Amino acid sequence: MTYDLLIRNARVLDGTGAAPFRGDVAVCGERIVAIGDLGDAAARTLIDAGGRYLAPGFIDVHTHDDTNVIRTPAMLPKLSQGVTTVVVGNCGISASPVTLEDEVPDPMNLLGRVEDFRYPSFAAYAEAVDAATPSVNVAALVGHTSLRSQAMDDFARPAGNAEIDTMERLLRRALAEGALGLSSGLAYRNAFHAPTAEMTPLVAAVGEAGGVYTTHLRDEFAGLPGAMDEAFATARQGRVPLVISHLKCAGAGNWGGAPPALAKLEDAARGQRAHCDCYPYTAGSSTLDLGQVTDEIEITITWSEPHPEQARRPLKAIAEEWNLSLREAAERLQPAGAVYHNMSEDDMRRVLAHPLSMVGSDGLPNDPHPHPRLWGAFPRVLARYSRDLGLMPLAEAVRKMTSLSAANFDLVDRGEIREGAYADLTLFDLATLEDTADYATPVAPARGIELVVVNGTIAYRQGAATGERSGRMLRRTQRIANSLTPHSMEESP
Ligand SMILES: [Zn+2]
Repeated sequence: MTYDLLIRNARVLDGTGAAPFRGDVAVCGERIVAIGDLGDAAARTLIDAGGRYLAPGFIDVHTHDDTNVIRTPAMLPKLSQGVTTVVVGNCGISASPVTLEDEVPDPMNLLGRVEDFRYPSFAAYAEAVDAATPSVNVAALVGHTSLRSQAMDDFARPAGNAEIDTMERLLRRALAEGALGLSSGLAYRNAFHAPTAEMTPLVAAVGEAGGVYTTHLRDEFAGLPGAMDEAFATARQGRVPLVISHLKCAGAGNWGGAPPALAKLEDAARGQRAHCDCYPYTAGSSTLDLGQVTDEIEITITWSEPHPEQARRPLKAIAEEWNLSLREAAERLQPAGAVYHNMSEDDMRRVLAHPLSMVGSDGLPNDPHPHPRLWGAFPRVLARYSRDLGLMPLAEAVRKMTSLSAANFDLVDRGEIREGAYADLTLFDLATLEDTADYATPVAPARGIELVVVNGTIAYRQGAATGERSGRMLRRTQRIANSLTPHSMEESP
């Protein structure tokens, strides 16, 4: 037997959270075919892991890479972290099923320019992804705000019945064409006016198709508990598994709120399938939101259309220079992007360490001065939070970026090292692993990611992409509607 690829002498973290074991992993075609002591088996490509860790390729469950996987298929910010699959379409914004003619509504402008929104159907988008052959696999949600952009002429009100029907029709078709589910971004002004009643029929359609519902909550500040209740109720009623996006306690007045928020998540998870994702930083980033402008925290401008020269500067300094209030300065900078230093380290660590949380970068690939999470989130969890600070065992950190993610997003045969699974693999050197991206120099690849294999093909090796791109669109397979079995029970502490 000659394998296509044999990785010898690795410390295998299989993604399930089990302790690592020494062994060899063999690949034929796109699948893992053998694991264990494979002796002197022959292989077309042989890699000696030298005792370094081999994990399933990381799954970035929270991305805004929708149009980047097509425009910049090398996907270096993700590949260089060991990521082999990205879930796009989060926070209510997706590139499909959308066509736009002039303006790009906020925050859909995080995804690209007007000409990037040219996929009237999910199928058209999926075909474009496959045609681009990105270096990583892509799975996609449909965004509620994106649906609104196709059904409504005014975002500042609830959708009427006919408009909800239009959204539901578009959504059902996308689900039939392989969309994973629905996302919402109810905190954003272009979705905030959608009442729960607007979400219910859409989420129910997702439930019938066996998909997932992810939500950037209506309130991540003082109103967090109520916003979580809304999400749990909507998901319960629609019979869908829920993922709360980037769970956080934002705003200085709400720091210390993680323990009750996580207790609430645990409570809900006893009766329904509920998880969250999290990035390992205490700053958030998005478009510049006037509602979040405050002097309590540091806000840095990352881009501004009318004032590009103000990028990378603190809003406070800009306001002082212009002799304006923070709010007036923020208005003058619009449309713009910002980094908000609005979380406490202790809260973030608690969410990150919790067994119901997954790792998602929330990276913004079109930001000229992006939040460092775009290039650093995954190595940062492993190196800083697991290795250096001991926040969780390495195997548990890997589980949160592999098998748990694959299970929650129904990515079949991904997220685990086992015979028969797809050969999405990441080999890293724990001793040298480091996220090098920071707020000052955010565009910087991680150190210590030695090898990344996507669908059996070596995509990244010794700090550089090989140019062999083998990612593909992962379409949701049709299944019987979800049961409400809380199979997360055993994960609950
Ligand atoms: Zn979000």
